[in-house]
Amino acid sequence: MNYKALIREVPDFPKPGILFYDITTLLKNPQAFRAIADDLAARYDGQGIAKVIGIESRGFILGGTLAARLGAGFVPVRKPGKLPADIYEVEYNLEYGSSVLAIHRDAVSAGERVLIVDDLLATGGTAAATVDLVRQLGGEIAGLDFLIELKGLKGRDRLTGYNVHSMLIYP
Ligand code: IMP
Repeated sequence: MNYKALIREVPDFPKPGILFYDITTLLKNPQAFRAIADDLAARYDGQGIAKVIGIESRGFILGGTLAARLGAGFVPVRKPGKLPADIYEVEYNLEYGSSVLAIHRDAVSAGERVLIVDDLLATGGTAAATVDLVRQLGGEIAGLDFLIELKGLKGRDRLTGYNVHSMLIYP
């Protein structure tokens, strides 16, 4: 299936000069959504994944369905002010300014094998911050999986030493 043909490319969103890859046009396609979830699950089936970590917010969509298929638990990594119980937070740099991500302290137990999932890998700042959070909890990161990777932004370079996979690579 030609997944790239199903991803809508929106120029100048959310601000001028940014080309936004909109996956809603792929997610609404029943065959494509199922095929992507099946592909993801096939790659990690039998690897003893205890938790799938989804990054807010589009990582919840892929991460949730993947966790259910693997028989794993699902853990959300969220923006500040959203998680109600004890959290760890990490601040990370964006192109302009910084942002914060949080995880519940009891979301992952030390030594559990986890998989981190998001829709898109750009500069890698978001994924690297999530790696930091999982490491604080003592989780063992089995891999990071993305639907889309924007290769030119070199996000992989911030994730060296980890098993990183993306389904669709863009320049
Ligand atoms: P990074 O931290 O620079 O790697 O940016 C990745 C984060 O930004 C992910 O959580 C993505 O959901 C989001 N993101 C960046 N660009 C796009 C895009 O073109 N489409 C959808 N999400 C994007």
